[in-house]
Amino acid sequence: MNAVIPLHVEAAGGCSTAPVLKERGQREVFCGLTGIVWLHRKIQDAFFLVVGSRTCAHLVQSAAGVMIFAEPRFATAIIDERDLAGLADAQDELDRVVTRLLERRSDIRTLFLVGSCPSEVIKLDLSRAAQRLSTRFAPQVRVLNYSGSGIETTFTQGEDACLASLVPGLPVPAATAPAQLVVVGALADVVEDQFTRLFAQIGLPAVQFLPARRSDAMPAVGPNTRYLLAQPFLADTARALENRGARRIAAPFPLGVEGTLGWLTAAAAAFGIGAEAVQAATAAPRARAEAALTRHRAALSGQRIFFFPDSQLEIPLARFLARELGMQLTEVGTPYLHREHLSEELALLPSGTVLSEGQDLEKQLDRCRAQQPDIVVCGLGLANPLEAEGLTTKWAIELVFSPIHGFEQAADLAELFARPLRRRALLQAGLA
Ligand code: SF4
Repeated sequence: MNAVIPLHVEAAGGCSTAPVLKERGQREVFCGLTGIVWLHRKIQDAFFLVVGSRTCAHLVQSAAGVMIFAEPRFATAIIDERDLAGLADAQDELDRVVTRLLERRSDIRTLFLVGSCPSEVIKLDLSRAAQRLSTRFAPQVRVLNYSGSGIETTFTQGEDACLASLVPGLPVPAATAPAQLVVVGALADVVEDQFTRLFAQIGLPAVQFLPARRSDAMPAVGPNTRYLLAQPFLADTARALENRGARRIAAPFPLGVEGTLGWLTAAAAAFGIGAEAVQAATAAPRARAEAALTRHRAALSGQRIFFFPDSQLEIPLARFLARELGMQLTEVGTPYLHREHLSEELALLPSGTVLSEGQDLEKQLDRCRAQQPDIVVCGLGLANPLEAEGLTTKWAIELVFSPIHGFEQAADLAELFARPLRRRALLQAGLA
């Protein structure tokens, strides 16, 4: 394993100033509706009503897999031919659908109207609908809107748009309230509970999370809020929080031992707590994670990995795989490179890493084939054709659906990359 290097040592190194290949061409990504799959599990009294077509309904349903709910918390209001032809008043129809839904479901506290390509094509003003319906159903239900449209987006932007839509309605803390830490980004409940315990042991007992599990538990945000991003794809949410006066704590992302330690250390430092306290509070989970990673290092070290741009998690993942597991990065593609939010990550990436932003699919496929990496991280649409060509793949979307943050999940994250390589080795052994 590469030694865990204190962040300040490499602050100006790695790929901080590395050139980035920028591509704008055909792309192969899921749209932002996909975020509903993990967000509806996270905010337990919310409902996501996609205003879209049958295609949108199929996408959400199939992304959600075969989950059967007695009381599902997402649905699609189908825009049909009459709406598209302008024969029906789509606003009236939407009011009827929402009224019927809220009459049946008294457990809903936040209703998200989620825009799609079809709702944007017919220019259905969902913010007007959300305001009107919010007034009508307040204070029982708050109605918000955001776009999950696939035009010019990638799938994790759905979460960004959803969280950004929550910000204007968050409570405002009293001017005299003490400084407050808010962790921003949907985390699996088990991970959130682990971080809550770790923060308390470090000396930060009142950390809040955005999104919260319930609508009435969302954090207050104002000038005395310091926020810590848990996900690297929250540019709009960060902007909305800063418009309220909140200030971001610059940190790497909590993937792997090094990223998690750096993330906690940065949060502690923002509240005047030294690195020694973090080291002491995290000693046991760090030791467990490092021991658990050892068994994956043998399988992953030296393996060459290629990232197609998909989840926006690519750069923190590449940093973890290269530095803690010894993998070799052939190309790290990401849909958008937010230099400010990723500054600590870029500094930690091995110098000389090939970075690309955006996509020109055919050109990138050619580069990937020329490299013949041991494993390719890509979207579902590319995985099957690449497997047919003999390349081993990992679905990027699985990395967003799985609990991968924090010390306790570091080995599970490594396992997500080790498993396809093991499978390939078994298949090759069987064929030999
Ligand atoms: Fe619906 Fe557009 Fe997403 Fe397709 S890309 S599922 S039309 S929102």
